[in-house]
Amino acid sequence: MVSSSLRPLEAPSPAHICPFDQACSYLDQAAKELHLDRGLLAVLSHPRKVVTVSIPVKLDNGEVEVLAGHRVQHCDVLGPYKGGTRYHPDVTLREVSALAMLMTWKCALVGIPYGGAKGGIALDPARYTVVELERITRRYTTELIKDIGPAIDIPAPDVGTSAREMAWMMDTYSMNVGHAVPGVVTGKPISIGGSRGREMATGRGVMIIVREAMAERGRSLAGAKVVIQGFGNVGGAAAVLLHEAGAKVVAVSDATGGVFDPEGLDIPALKAYSLQNHRSVVGFPGAKAVTNAELLALPCDVLIPAALENQITEENVHEVQAQIVVEAANGPVTLVADRALENRGVTVLPDILANAGGVVVSYLEWVQGLSYVFWDEERVNKEMENLMVHAYHRVIQESKERQVPLRVAAYTLGVGRVAQALADRGLYP
Ligand code: NAD
Repeated sequence: MVSSSLRPLEAPSPAHICPFDQACSYLDQAAKELHLDRGLLAVLSHPRKVVTVSIPVKLDNGEVEVLAGHRVQHCDVLGPYKGGTRYHPDVTLREVSALAMLMTWKCALVGIPYGGAKGGIALDPARYTVVELERITRRYTTELIKDIGPAIDIPAPDVGTSAREMAWMMDTYSMNVGHAVPGVVTGKPISIGGSRGREMATGRGVMIIVREAMAERGRSLAGAKVVIQGFGNVGGAAAVLLHEAGAKVVAVSDATGGVFDPEGLDIPALKAYSLQNHRSVVGFPGAKAVTNAELLALPCDVLIPAALENQITEENVHEVQAQIVVEAANGPVTLVADRALENRGVTVLPDILANAGGVVVSYLEWVQGLSYVFWDEERVNKEMENLMVHAYHRVIQESKERQVPLRVAAYTLGVGRVAQALADRGLYP
């Protein structure tokens, strides 16, 4: 493992599974496959820029609180940095650094000209009013004003953020530079240059990957039993699209609990129920209650963890009954659990492939913004589907040629493209 100067900065993450160490392990495996030069590997193992800012916020009751915000820019050898902005209490610099690195490989894997970045603020959005969240977002954006921009680093939504936060970021940036700059963020509302299809894009990409994986086994989506952990931007959209395609979504969960119906849940009704029920699926009429732990162990064809990292670990991996695990979230399967699944012959479709639909449509949004030509949803979905299907088959081919698991194949493709670009550009100065 290549040592990282990030390591001394913080104590290990709460689950004692360091996400940055995990990310480096996957990079190391790919580097081995590629016989990567040690110097090149050292460069790719470190983020290029790490920014931590204090965010003082005046709460509605007059008190002042100071939050910690981060933005990590991993590697911009292929193009501007790109990555989501996460609002969650467990956000740490190590986690953000790991996610920034994942973004670099993901963009390279699907062939879009971006480098990886990620941002986040350690907070529980549910504890703040909308006005407080707006002040927090605007101050965070202002602190990062010199580090972001359409040609520098383009944030997008992630856990705990949505088009609303992107609109605040776009407005704050635009006010600071003196003119409207829609291209500074993606995942923004359509009224200010957002792309049609962006909201469902990550979930749509997940559905496409599930469809391709089932087709590889001679099956269609119709009747496939699917379990989904997480019912937000990604899990919610994947559930809707898989249900529309005829799959039986038998269980879903969110942070408050889960619901199960062996005959398949009525996903549109569940979606409407969850929205009315403070974004909770708990208590959905006609379904049985399940905990998140029980949900991961349900019998199904496809298990889709679409919430947070480290959900399938060495503690619960033996309970997983699915034949296919699709990582819609980033890093939901730990390194040890990944090996255990591989040994049992369970197919794991890795995050950098499975959830790339979001960044692909973010890229299409950026392209539309730069060209001032806006496409209909059909075109956006088609362009995304082409890139996703192509990436899926390249990963399968690479896996067969190298006789390695899909994750190693995906990393080898992503890391290989970045390493090649770095070698071609040369090390400055
Ligand atoms: P979100 O905040 O919209 O939704 C997260 C969902 O997970 C919510 O339903 C929440 O209640 C649930 N959840 C939280 N903690 C949970 C727990 N302990 N157990 C079960 N459910 C829990 O977030 P999102 O944007 O859907 O992101 C989900 C994952 O997908 C993250 O790993 C994110 O990095 C990744 N991702 C998101 C995008 C995107 O476009 N939004 C793109 C690529 C990857």
